[in-house]
Amino acid sequence: MSEFILNRNRQDNGDYEVHNTTAGCLYMPFEQNQIPLGSHLTCSGAITRAKNNYPNHRINGCYYCCNACHTR
Ligand SMILES: [Zn+2]
Repeated sequence: MSEFILNRNRQDNGDYEVHNTTAGCLYMPFEQNQIPLGSHLTCSGAITRAKNNYPNHRINGCYYCCNACHTR
């Protein structure tokens, strides 16, 4: 299981990105901008959680730490 967070800040392209805090990431947002998404087996669980919590946000996996969940 890994811990995932959602970036509170929107990316320039309009996406809100999910990062894996257990694996770590060069592009991890500052701690005050991290919204915990809990532990998940894979990033797809974290993406689902984020979409449920923020149905109006465009959620995407980080290219670097959640590549399997990164679209486009
Ligand atoms: Zn990342």
